[in-house]
Amino acid sequence: MTTSHYIAGRWVEGQGSDCISVNDPALGQPFAELMAASVEQVDQAVAAARTALPAWKSTGASERAAYLRGFAEQLGQRREALITLQMRNNGKPRHEAEIDLDDAIATFGYYAELAEQLPVKNRDVPLAAPGFTARTRLEPVGVVGLIVPWNFPLVTSAWKLAPALAAGCTVVLKPSEVTPLVEQAYGQIADTLGLPAGVLNIVNGKAETGAALSSHHGLDKLSFTGSNSVGSQVMRSASAQCRPVTLELGGKSAIVVFDDCDVDQAVEWIVAGISWNAGQMCSATSRLLVQDGIADALLQRLQAALENLRVGNPLTEEVEMGPLTSQAQWLKVASYFATAREEGLQCLAGGKALDRDGWFVSPTLYADVPKDSRLWAEEIFGPVLCARRFATEQQAIAEANDSRFGLVATVCTADLERAERVADALEVGHVWINSVQAVFVETSWGGTKGSGIGRELGPWGLSGYQSVKHVTRCLG
Ligand code: NAD
Repeated sequence: MTTSHYIAGRWVEGQGSDCISVNDPALGQPFAELMAASVEQVDQAVAAARTALPAWKSTGASERAAYLRGFAEQLGQRREALITLQMRNNGKPRHEAEIDLDDAIATFGYYAELAEQLPVKNRDVPLAAPGFTARTRLEPVGVVGLIVPWNFPLVTSAWKLAPALAAGCTVVLKPSEVTPLVEQAYGQIADTLGLPAGVLNIVNGKAETGAALSSHHGLDKLSFTGSNSVGSQVMRSASAQCRPVTLELGGKSAIVVFDDCDVDQAVEWIVAGISWNAGQMCSATSRLLVQDGIADALLQRLQAALENLRVGNPLTEEVEMGPLTSQAQWLKVASYFATAREEGLQCLAGGKALDRDGWFVSPTLYADVPKDSRLWAEEIFGPVLCARRFATEQQAIAEANDSRFGLVATVCTADLERAERVADALEVGHVWINSVQAVFVETSWGGTKGSGIGRELGPWGLSGYQSVKHVTRCLG
């Protein structure tokens, strides 16, 4: 049993009624347990954040930056433990667990720099009208609730924690019940650095704990990453209190491959876009649109590439793809395999769960999927790729945009003018040209349409935790 809640600068036992099992998905077996936080403990965490707010928001920008640099350094010092825990609890291959850790470190380093620049952003505003001066103050929003999912726990939490702390907010973080251990590092680091008590609080639990936090009257803002169904509940809670909310939700993103591409290179990008993290990415490019001229050759090589992917237990084997992270996700993906069979889809690779212990499925490719198929329209969150062919650029754009989601897209073509034109026409928050899943802390993250509200990363991520105040003075 793990003591896992960090409230007002102290580690406490959970007093809720849910017992959370922490599983190794490669074995399909639990390796730790913890009790969820009670609703009263969520109250205590929010109260601690409220108490800590006045002092924290008054700290100098350079002091806050020093804490953020401390987080980056301390993450680095826990490197092997954090990589191993992500491999064990998420089923991530080692190189992916390393990338996640480096992303979290870079995020804290970047927001340390933005924190240092904060005083410069508070500047005079030139007025056309005579007789007045005005100045801007960027103030922290206040006490913020942060609710995150399980697929990139270390990263998603860093993307929220670092800008929130940089802005001068105090926070209550609720990790996913599927991966509740890795983010404990943030509490341990807060201890090590002597971060003032209550600035960062962590409560673990399932839906009940999340709902207690998202509906709490003591918050000034909520930032949520997760599914659309829970996102809409979170938004309802926020609307009941007229409170701002940032939502990072699902995706069903397109990868558009024109026939001037090098086929082998395109196959590499396509495979990465659907197999990293076993396809459990909001940004998985799970709808392949391939131009007629290379469609047959590309699908053939793609089939071979997916069938040859090394799938296995990241802790004991050299693997390119691990298991799905939870049994619930494994059952969900398996249900889409059943739907594909009912719909009579043409399966070129995979389409089944692996016959071994743990929550493994084969990398899967369905070809010439009809537009009205559920598999073409819905987020599956697994290594399941659906392909369609197109003839013209206009057709590719129209099909890519024909989705209720709008998170990301990838465009593969040797014609860079066309690439830029298509990128401009795609209704998404981020487009990659001739690359895949390349996320930099300086660029924004977030979606259009059903993929969410607001942006993380870059200066936009910081703005999400700031409130703009103007002070206007009459000179007369
Ligand atoms: P989820 O919505 O089930 O859970 C997300 C978090 O919300 C968890 O911490 C969970 O405990 C909590 N929660 C559950 N019920 C709640 C409630 N009623 N009120 C408040 N909180 C509640 O999502 P998941 O299965 O953990 O993650 C997968 C989803 O996340 C996918 O849809 C994926 O696309 C999305 N996602 C989006 C992004 C992005 O940046 N857009 C990134 C990662 C994941």
